[in-house]
Order: sequence, then C-alpha cells, then structure tokens
Amino acid sequence: MQFRRIKGTQDILPEEVGKWQYVENTIRAEMAVFNYRECRTPVFEQTELFARGIGESTDIVGKEMYTFLDRGKKSLTLKPEMTAPIVRAFLENNLGSLTPLTKLYYIAPLFRQENPQAGRLRQFHQFGAEVLGSGAPELDAEIIMLAMQIYKKLGLKSLDLIVNSVGDPESRANYRVLLQKYIKPLLAQYCQDCQNRYRTNPLRILDCKVESCRRLNADAPQLIDSLTSAAEKHFTTVKRILAENDIPHTLNPYLVRGLDYYTHTVFEITSARLGAQDALCGGGRYDLLAKQLGGTDTPAVGFAAGIERLLMVIDAEHGQSMQKDDLDVYLCALGPQAFRTSVKWTQKIRALGLRTDRDYFGRSMKAQLRDANRQSAKVVLILGDNELKDNEFSVKDMQNSTQQLVPFSEIENFLLNFFKK
Ligand code: AMP
Repeated sequence: MQFRRIKGTQDILPEEVGKWQYVENTIRAEMAVFNYRECRTPVFEQTELFARGIGESTDIVGKEMYTFLDRGKKSLTLKPEMTAPIVRAFLENNLGSLTPLTKLYYIAPLFRQENPQAGRLRQFHQFGAEVLGSGAPELDAEIIMLAMQIYKKLGLKSLDLIVNSVGDPESRANYRVLLQKYIKPLLAQYCQDCQNRYRTNPLRILDCKVESCRRLNADAPQLIDSLTSAAEKHFTTVKRILAENDIPHTLNPYLVRGLDYYTHTVFEITSARLGAQDALCGGGRYDLLAKQLGGTDTPAVGFAAGIERLLMVIDAEHGQSMQKDDLDVYLCALGPQAFRTSVKWTQKIRALGLRTDRDYFGRSMKAQLRDANRQSAKVVLILGDNELKDNEFSVKDMQNSTQQLVPFSEIENFLLNFFKK
C-alpha cells in the first residue's frame, strides 16, 4: 500500500462508529435537556485568534499548532481547541444582542501536533459547552454538573472531579509577585521551559510536568491563598452548589490548566481507568477572553472533553455492548429471474424503515444464508423458482428457525407486524 494515514490520526471504522454515534446522541440529548444549542465553526481560523486567545506562552500555541500560509500568504491554523472559535463566532454574529445569556455546545475534530501515544492524538475530538453573558457562580457549577451528568448517562463510574480557583486579575497579580519571589532563588534548578516561563508567564510553571520542577513547586505559595475576597466568595458558592447537589470534588491548588484565558473556577475530570493521560474533561471560567479578542466584555464559562479518551473509559468499564447494527431483513434470491425481482422488493421493504440487505453476487442458497447469519439478520426472505411462480416468499424467522409462506401481497404487513413485537 502506497498511502497511510498521518501519524496520530485514526480511521473510525464501521465496527467502532456505533459507539461514537451512541456517545454523540447521548451528548446531544443531555445538552438539549440543559438548554444548550449546537454551534459549528470552521475547521481553520486566522492564526492570530489562537495566539491571542490561548496565549503565546502556552504549549498549544508555542509548539503544537498546525499552522500554514494559504495562497494569499495569510497565516491559518487548524483549530486546536474550540473556546476561541466559539467566542469569535459569538462576537462576530452578535449573539449577545439576541439574548442576555447564550448557551452553546459543540462536537468537533481538533488538531494538535503532540507526540502521539495512548490517549494523545494529533487529530482528536472534543465535545464541550460554553455559556456566555453572565459571571454568576451558579453557571460555573452548572457547567460542571452538565459534564458530570453526561458521564453519568453514559454509565461512567470512578471519576474524580478536581477544582481550583485561579481568581480574578487582581488575585493573580498579587500571586504572581509571591510566586516569582519564591522561584527566583531556585530558578537555575528549573527546566529551560520554566526559566522562560518565569519572565513570560510564571503561573505556567505550576503546570510543568517535569518531575524536578514538580518537586520544586511543592513548596511554592498557592494562588488559592492570594484570592481577593470577591474571588473567594465566588469559589465558595461554586463549591457549596456542588456539595448541595452531591457532586464529590477535591481541591487541587496546583490546577491551573494549560490555557491562559481562565479566571475564577477551573476544573478537571479524570478517570482512574486511563493511564498517564488521565484527563477526560477540563474547563473553567474565562471572563476576559471576549475582550482580549477585541469584543465587548462578556463573562463566560465552559468545558471541553475528549471523546477518544471517553471511549477508552467506556471500553474499560462496560465493554463493547452498545453496537446495534444487525440486519432486520435479508433477501435471498435464487436464479436470475428471482435476482431481478428481489431488487424491487428490497426497495419496498427498505421503504418500511426496516434495515434490509440482499445478495449482489448471485451466490448459492448456502452462501446467502451464511451472509444473512454473519449480519445477524432477524428475518430471511427466500425467493426461488417455486416462490416466484406462486407469488410468495418463504419467510425464515432466524431466531427460532421456523419457516412459513407469505404471499407477495401480504409481505409488507407481515414484516411490519413481525417487527412490532
Ligand atoms: P484541553 O483542551 O487541553 O483542556 O483538553 C480537554 C480534553 O481534551 C482533555 O481532557 C482530553 O480528554 C482531550 N484531549 C486533549 N488533547 C488531546 C489529544 N492530543 N488527544 C486526545 N485527546 C485530547
């Protein structure tokens, strides 16, 4: 074979796609219950949207984006996340002028040039929700509960919800000073990336995955202790609502998330079923992003959740049991005349809404029945010379192996009744 798929991408083959559809349908149903409406944005955007939105010093913008020049020499980027595009669409289409609160959701492919490994792909999929237009802590809690509710509907257990607050800009400015004071004498012991982050974005140092940096970070002052009283009040309300709704959560003062636009609540949902890449979902409040992108000041909160990792957890927890693409009816035609007549009948039976297929090769009865079995057909209609002569089908019920003759004129009603059972 000459061509292979690009490293870090996947083909979603028919055996797998049933699970994707089941997950997507559950997401859509639950989003509707919470009154979120779908928003679809283009696969690529101006590079500047992400550079400004996510932050130049983040890993995504610094190392992972698929960026290219188009023929007009414009720099474009395949979207690596959905929040900036959603906010762009919200601002560009003036959605804020229609209703005071805009609740949106998405299911979309994303692109990041990371090192591929289990649970880390270069094209992957996320679903997520974003609420724009209010700074109410009730919405931070709603977003978390919406994500948890979707996982619950999908039957996931053993999830951990980790929360933190990164405060408002004032809390962060206070903390930045304290953190730099702590790191300064230790700076030479940090990795090169962190040494750069020290000047550009010291908070990112807390997010570093390098073991020696993590050890140094263990004694650092914590942002949660620098919150202004308004930021603390906001976070207390979020935690109270979670507790009142029986959503267990733990505080992790080191959780800052990999993107720059967060304010107040940040959270992550992890699963013990995943290995090193254990994050299923992450999100938080991002009150400054709309303004940062040149729009009107719009407080907002949202989450983003990986679908491939979700499917890994579903496989680990309750196996492969959700595929339902068995055939209802298989038409078995014997001889050229029956072969021709069966085309019309296949169409008629499909028009009833039954999942129907047939033989296309003029094979033997035995081979056709084997095919029907392989596709788990519930009913097989046999059309041979005798049946043709008498205008009827031999109808085989594959579950209990009984067989009976049904006239052409009655076959549609017969099948409708059969599948009503
Ligand atoms: P993020 O946008 O980085 O906060 O990621 C949110 C979620 O998307 C993560 O918790 C993962 O479930 C998923 N995710 C992020 N990056 C990848 C990737 N490279 N491959 C697969 N899933 C990913």
